Amino acid sequence: MRRLLVLGAGTAGTMVVNKLRRRLDRPDWRITVVEPSDTHYYQPGYLFLPFGAYGPRQVVKPTAPLIADGVELVRGEVDRVATAENRVLLSDGRSLPYDYLVIATGVTPRPDQTPGMLDGGRWRRSIFDFYTYDGALALRDALDRFDGGRLVVHITDLPIKCPVAPLEFAFLADAYFRRRGMRDRVELVYATPLPGAFTKPIASARLGSMLDDRKITVEPDFLVERIDGTTLVSYDEREIPFDLLVTVPLNMGADYVARSGLGNELNLVPVDRHTLLAKGHDTIFALGDANDIPTSKAGSVAHFSVEVFTGNFLAHVAGRPMTGSFDGHANCFVESGDGRALLVDFNYDTEPLPGSYPVPALGPFRLLEDAAVNHWGKLAFRWMYWNVLLPGRPIPLPAHMSMAGKHIPKPEE
Ligand SMILES: Cc1cc2nc3c(=O)[nH]c(=O)nc-3n(C[C@H](O)[C@H](O)[C@H](O)COP(=O)(O)OP(=O)(O)OC[C@H]3O[C@@H](n4cnc5c(N)ncnc54)[C@H](O)[C@@H]3O)c2cc1C
Repeated sequence: MRRLLVLGAGTAGTMVVNKLRRRLDRPDWRITVVEPSDTHYYQPGYLFLPFGAYGPRQVVKPTAPLIADGVELVRGEVDRVATAENRVLLSDGRSLPYDYLVIATGVTPRPDQTPGMLDGGRWRRSIFDFYTYDGALALRDALDRFDGGRLVVHITDLPIKCPVAPLEFAFLADAYFRRRGMRDRVELVYATPLPGAFTKPIASARLGSMLDDRKITVEPDFLVERIDGTTLVSYDEREIPFDLLVTVPLNMGADYVARSGLGNELNLVPVDRHTLLAKGHDTIFALGDANDIPTSKAGSVAHFSVEVFTGNFLAHVAGRPMTGSFDGHANCFVESGDGRALLVDFNYDTEPLPGSYPVPALGPFRLLEDAAVNHWGKLAFRWMYWNVLLPGRPIPLPAHMSMAGKHIPKPEE
């Protein structure tokens, strides 16, 4: 019997085991997934928790029922992969052998990596994050208490999961303070290491003008070196004082990745960007946020890449070449406040462009356009996540990005 071992039962790990359980014969294949948490978190919902738009119960479900019958769920934490012995060691001393390994342990925010962020005594008092469940809930209470001043939304460095989420937070904060009748008492600042609002020029121009319209000041090219009390200080000695800081700490892969000699400086696993096979290995893949592919770290990427990976994996274990090629396809809804959102759809080679998705001309979603239909799409995505994506059910959307329905804007557009 051959053994497939998957590390992490988050978005990617859960989809992989559920899809492959249907495709790999039970007598021939044992599938095991390792996960320390009893709870599965719907992370895109963290954005809505601070504003009270979602309650805590809307973003969690127990882990075990999400895993298909016939998959062994091991509750534990990976300590090290012993690649030379094809074994994974858990922190409680157990050892799990594998023939094929999938690393899907994602990335986590690391406030400990910026001097003064965690150790300056202000963590969860005037410095908050919304990239964790506890952080998003603590921030909800802090926003409730906030009676005015300078609120800085800040990205420490890239890559981060869902790189549009901090922008969405800024847009939602603007709408939230307007609703509370106190927007004139809040100065909103967006501090980013990027030269503009987003990584790619057309989307950056659109999103940048939306920040301007909402009187949110952008502080570009801001690379934080430390936090001194209630001031962000950059490497080039610029200073941004704050009353409330909403930061996205450095996102890093799990420490065991480094201990196992499988990671880069951010503990991300270098992979072939088309097959997701770990460089220098023939039996180890890294899926979802855990790898170093140059596209967004997003649930949509996990989903599209798992589609391609599944076919490739079946070919690979049968000794055939992997012919599927992942193109970096990502799409993300961008909440803009007041019940509206944009949608971006792109891949390794094509930046987000205007148009319609998924059906050319008909949509219903509007690419790079601020529209109510996109907001409804974002809300519907939560249902899709629990009921279609995690169970690994097929959805009628191609894994590869399509140019149909997209157009390159003229300079005046
Ligand atoms: C605020 C926010 C908003 C977002 N919005 C969107 C969005 O709108 N659209 C979108 O597509 N994506 C969005 N995302 C990103 C999306 O949630 C992630 O990209 C996706 O969850 C990645 O899946 P993953 O399986 O790689 O990692 P995860 O889902 O994070 O799963 C990793 C799993 O590994 C486990 N693990 C970690 N360390 C170990 C260890 N040592 N041993 C064993 N297990 C371990 C963890 O417990 C976890 O269950 C958002 C993320 C955040 C934080």
